[in-house]
Amino acid sequence: GYQRVLEENRKLYNQVQDLKGSIRVYCRVRPFLPGQPNSVSTVHRLDEGSITINTPAKYAKDGRKSFTFNKVFGPSATQEEIFSDTQPLIRSALDGYNVCIFAYGQTGSGKTHTMTGPRELTQESVGVNYRALSDLFLISEQRKDTISYEISVQMLEIYNEQVRDLLATDGLNKRYPFGKNSQNGLNVPEASLVPVSSTSEVIGLMNIGQKNRAVGATAMNDRSSRSHSCLTVHVQGRELASGTTLRGCMHLVDLAGSERVDKSEVVGDRLKEAQHINKSLSALGDVISSLSQKNSHVPYRNSKLTQLLQDSLGGQAKTLMFVHISPEPDAVGETLSTLKFAERVSTVELGAARINKDNSDVKELKEQIANLKAALARKE
Ligand code: ADP
Ligand code: MG
Repeated sequence: GYQRVLEENRKLYNQVQDLKGSIRVYCRVRPFLPGQPNSVSTVHRLDEGSITINTPAKYAKDGRKSFTFNKVFGPSATQEEIFSDTQPLIRSALDGYNVCIFAYGQTGSGKTHTMTGPRELTQESVGVNYRALSDLFLISEQRKDTISYEISVQMLEIYNEQVRDLLATDGLNKRYPFGKNSQNGLNVPEASLVPVSSTSEVIGLMNIGQKNRAVGATAMNDRSSRSHSCLTVHVQGRELASGTTLRGCMHLVDLAGSERVDKSEVVGDRLKEAQHINKSLSALGDVISSLSQKNSHVPYRNSKLTQLLQDSLGGQAKTLMFVHISPEPDAVGETLSTLKFAERVSTVELGAARINKDNSDVKELKEQIANLKAALARKE
């Protein structure tokens, strides 16, 4: 009755309040790797929410620069710790939100480690992507008496401003246009969308995607550091009692390496790649800063990356960026520019996130409230 409606309203209100605020930015420091020559970390100190870098005098007179973020994870943080702070965001995809999680940083700083894991995967070492999907399966199983969920995935790569479907079965060189699929809201409607219901299926798909990604790599170039890869998880839920449907979408993005390539040193394909990467990462920064300034025009169309993620960036979505830094002193220039980019991103104030629920539900609730108010008024 009335009580339930109030309860429901309060829940929705709290959910929305909960999501208000900035885009979240977490910083993760990679440990020194085995076999590396001994050196002193550029990280002077860190705590839960801030990090101070030792810099050469040319970057800061006193030799220190500090940055604050929503969370800072030191070199000994485990994959499990990283995931536990990401989990609430991931679960909200099941409640009908759009979620976007990025890994940003220079090549070798640990982006793929965070999202996928190291080359040899174990239960402890798997990254956010796998943990996110197992968690979605777990929760959807727990809710199965009230909501029936369908979960499906896309795996895309953006290389030189071209989108490739990593799960394509009919060749990899097809061009994929952008356009909205009105059924599921996905932006690359022609790319494969594969239903999944277990983690073993997901692992199978990830392996296919990984292999397809390698197909495009030339022998001497590690392509993965110069393309963006995006695992998109599409969630559709149907409330059994009301028949209401909701859909959520989660993009898990392993970005191309953010290092600045010295234009005087590269030519040909490498130069072209570098220009495309610079362009798309600055487009990402521009979109986010334009959102923060509440500009009426947000330049999503300046890159394929921002076009792909359009609905999952901005006030109606929940966004998390993991910024990765390497501890080596010779990386300090890149480390500082990474942290500056991240700081620019983290000042964003977004509006409340929105649930993708068909309106009939809200309308119905409103009607119920109106009826109940009328009933109460009659009693008084
Ligand atoms: P990126 O994807 O940013 O280029 P990788 O994730 O491939 O970087 O990391 C580079 C190397 O460092 C890999 O061998 C990876 O396993 C290792 N590595 C990265 N982050 C960690 C970490 N937090 N703990 C242990 N090893 C890590
Ligand atoms: Mg990588």
